[in-house]
Amino acid sequence: MTDRIFNFNPGPAVLPLPVLQEIQAELLNYKGSGMSIMEVSHRSKWFDDVLNDAVARTRRLLNLSDRFRVLFLQGGASMQFPMVAMNLALPGKPLDYVDTGTWSTKAIKEAQILGKDVRVVAGSKDREYTYIPETVPVNPDASYLHITSNNTIRGTQWKRFPETGGVPLVSDMSSDILSRVFDPEPFGLIYAGAQKNAGPAGVTLVILREDMLERVPADLPTMFRYTTYAEKNSLFNTPPCFAIYVVGLVLKWLEETVGGVAAMEDINRRKADLLYACIDETDFYRGTASPESRSAMNVTFRLPTPELEQKFIEEATRAGLGGLKGHRSVGGCRASIYNAMPLEGVEALVHFMKDFEKKNG
Ligand code: PMP
Repeated sequence: MTDRIFNFNPGPAVLPLPVLQEIQAELLNYKGSGMSIMEVSHRSKWFDDVLNDAVARTRRLLNLSDRFRVLFLQGGASMQFPMVAMNLALPGKPLDYVDTGTWSTKAIKEAQILGKDVRVVAGSKDREYTYIPETVPVNPDASYLHITSNNTIRGTQWKRFPETGGVPLVSDMSSDILSRVFDPEPFGLIYAGAQKNAGPAGVTLVILREDMLERVPADLPTMFRYTTYAEKNSLFNTPPCFAIYVVGLVLKWLEETVGGVAAMEDINRRKADLLYACIDETDFYRGTASPESRSAMNVTFRLPTPELEQKFIEEATRAGLGGLKGHRSVGGCRASIYNAMPLEGVEALVHFMKDFEKKNG
């Protein structure tokens, strides 16, 4: 497969090659059904097995106790911004948020649109969202504390989650779910658009602690209630069948080929260390995130001038290194090195960066 590039896109992002090959191999006739998985009923045994397998693998990979439910929803991570607030707000108890950049800010805004009592208890707006706040006040009266575990645009990531003293943590883990080991117990809810680390766009993973279901107000429209999905194993209506199927294959790859999340974390660490070392070695490249808050998933950096950045991105693209343009809101460069980006991809990027500096530095 020499015609595939190293894809550093932020999402939708690179998928593991064996997953794509497996999709290709069973596309026309899924396990003897004579149909593709896109054409079978979502009530069939074929799809039931796909769904249950994806749930079971998520539970194993993330070490989820019986208290957690794994759900597959539509509407992207963006749909979770209002859903979390609608479902988990307790009467008279404020909703606490940490504002670490665009996606946190959007989550906050949606809760405000709903007229909720939103409290921004910490954040990093004062220094252009280049760091993760060191301390977060513990407010025992909060309904929950919402964080964004990895900030895709700014390239920052929580290394230690805040201590909340029993207040449920809620996290948008869209850009780092399944990339590292963490203790799920303090989390009331975790959500993640699949299109970075878990699969294709079109499905959102929601991991919910069972006691959160007791909070769901009965007067919400059916499709906005977590209970609807929990009671029907994500099959209240037609789910995004194909996307769930691909997520299942990605989880199988992570479990059986990579060897699980701890093994993946190790590889991710090596990739990130390699790239940050290259950035730190010279003044030509400049990392934009504070070193202690640097993300192992999205590596953001600048070159001496916007013109050089433009040239860098163009030449990299020609060299088979795609998707290195920074988010349009911040400019610069960004290498997204999610689970499916192989170490060789990062090695090739580092090689290119050194060469580019020699010619242009
Ligand atoms: N949260 C984070 C951390 C993200 O990176 C993104 C997408 N880049 C979103 C939310 C929005 O996701 P979606 O497009 O699935 O709504």
